[in-house]
Amino acid sequence: MLKAGSYDAIVVGAGHNGLVSAFYLGRAGLKTLVLERREVVGGCCVTEEIAPGCRASTTSYIASMLRPEVIKDLHLASFGLRMVPCDPYLQVPFPDGTILPWWAEREKLVAEIARLSPKDALAWSRVDDQLKRLARYLQPFFLEPPPDPGARGIEGLRELLKMARRFWGISGREIAEMVSFLTGSLGEFLDRNYESPKVKTLILANNVYGKHGGPYDNGTALGLLFHLLSGGEHEVQGFMGHVMGGMGAITQSMAAACRQRGVEICENAEVRAIVARGGRVKGIALADGTEIEAPLVLSGADPKRTFLGLVEPSELPAEFREAVRGIKMNGPCAKVNLVLSEEPRFSGTPAEAAPSERTLYTLVPSLDFAERCYDQAKRGLLPDELWVDCVVASNVDRSLCPADRHVMTCFVQYVPYRLREGHWDEERERLGDLVLRKIGEYAPNVPATVVARQVLTPLDLERTYGLTEGNIFHGDLSLEQLFFMRPVPGFAKYRSPIEGLYLCGAGAHPGGGVTGAPGYNAAHQALRDLRRH
Ligand SMILES: Cc1cc2nc3c(=O)[nH]c(=O)nc-3n(C[C@H](O)[C@H](O)[C@H](O)COP(=O)(O)OP(=O)(O)OC[C@H]3O[C@@H](n4cnc5c(N)ncnc54)[C@H](O)[C@@H]3O)c2cc1C
Repeated sequence: MLKAGSYDAIVVGAGHNGLVSAFYLGRAGLKTLVLERREVVGGCCVTEEIAPGCRASTTSYIASMLRPEVIKDLHLASFGLRMVPCDPYLQVPFPDGTILPWWAEREKLVAEIARLSPKDALAWSRVDDQLKRLARYLQPFFLEPPPDPGARGIEGLRELLKMARRFWGISGREIAEMVSFLTGSLGEFLDRNYESPKVKTLILANNVYGKHGGPYDNGTALGLLFHLLSGGEHEVQGFMGHVMGGMGAITQSMAAACRQRGVEICENAEVRAIVARGGRVKGIALADGTEIEAPLVLSGADPKRTFLGLVEPSELPAEFREAVRGIKMNGPCAKVNLVLSEEPRFSGTPAEAAPSERTLYTLVPSLDFAERCYDQAKRGLLPDELWVDCVVASNVDRSLCPADRHVMTCFVQYVPYRLREGHWDEERERLGDLVLRKIGEYAPNVPATVVARQVLTPLDLERTYGLTEGNIFHGDLSLEQLFFMRPVPGFAKYRSPIEGLYLCGAGAHPGGGVTGAPGYNAAHQALRDLRRH
């Protein structure tokens, strides 16, 4: 049980960003306490038992943009973190029985595409180079506070110089391309550059996850650039990796790094309130009534939970609360995790495919299909056919379950948070059935071999993992909620209207995904402010 006491800093929530923040605070010599409401650390980056002896990455499932700086600073490898690059990155089986893999090696991929369309094979390298070039301009923004267009005087000059340095050498054409990626639609981009519907679908299958918008909605091309930001230990552009032991191995190793720096971590410790008086943070109050003082509080909970749920309304300006209330959440995803008594056999998989090549299967047959799913979901309907992203994790990591079992995680893109009719508590099993029906079309042996299934609706993501409205990124990743507008305009530098209270989770710049970037940036901002004072 926790004793009330004084700390230099408290971090609310042991999601991966909270842990990253806590590490840097601890490393700077601050006596730091992390409080997590759940019985396990990790937030949405966690491995949990879903049946006796069978473990799964219950929420996030692929490591792509985890910052190399974070991996190195926290020495995560020395605490057991091991990531194996995905190859293929993903593959799409089609209803005609064929399958299209996205090989990591470009020549191999281009040869695969050439079989469908020589023209698209030529276009692929050109477009890939273009995207990688543009992504490099965005890369540096990831691990620093976003530019502040409102800065004046010396600070304004500094911001201007920083921007000039970041975009030094960019041509007028590249600026136009950048704007079109930030604002345009993925579908139109694909129609402009490719002719094969299967090639277009392959690119779709690596994008839009967790976001609002069908492929033809403006703003959906953004993911093309985001996915090419570098990640992993060796800073590879577009890195995608399987984490041995599941995604929880990331946060377990982060927690170990924190403890080595003297950080205390308490599970089963729900923060009921962040206490502030006279515009200054004083500490927190736990759900059991314990109060703990600290002059610095970083919240890894999402912005709505933090500012509308934990802070006394009278301590925040009304317009700030209004802006936070306006953040678009409305999570469009669900997850179904399965234990199977045999390996799924997806049609189209070559007989000689190695286990690692029988691991990733994205079930989305076309852009039109995805568009239809989104149309139904945005109207509050559970789509009658679903886009499902399957990972047979046990094919790359036998430690997850006994030898006679397989673990498959299934991410569902496009379901409504608010159902127009009924309630998720009554629709949960229907969602699970629809997912199995879709998988059965491509891997007919799966439905009859299910030993256990865990269905996480958007409501379950909210209740269990603390994500407001089930939004997996703590706020939609649309342009109006990014950079200097994340979480809300005027407060993008992790600070809040309350002195000493910072936001360090995915709701802050640069946003969601297992990156460690908001946690890194928030801790550094808080430490800079401490030094300045
Ligand atoms: C189903 C799903 C699939 C995803 N797939 C991927 C993927 O494959 N790859 C990828 O990169 N990203 C993926 N994501 C997104 C990614 O997991 C998240 O954006 C990221 O993990 C957020 O990390 P965080 O540390 O900012 O917040 P969180 O992980 O949400 O952590 C916040 C923590 O705060 C705790 N908390 C909240 N309120 C309180 C309180 N009052 N007191 C104490 N503790 C509190 C919560 O319990 C939680 O542990 C996925 C997310 C989901 C849900």
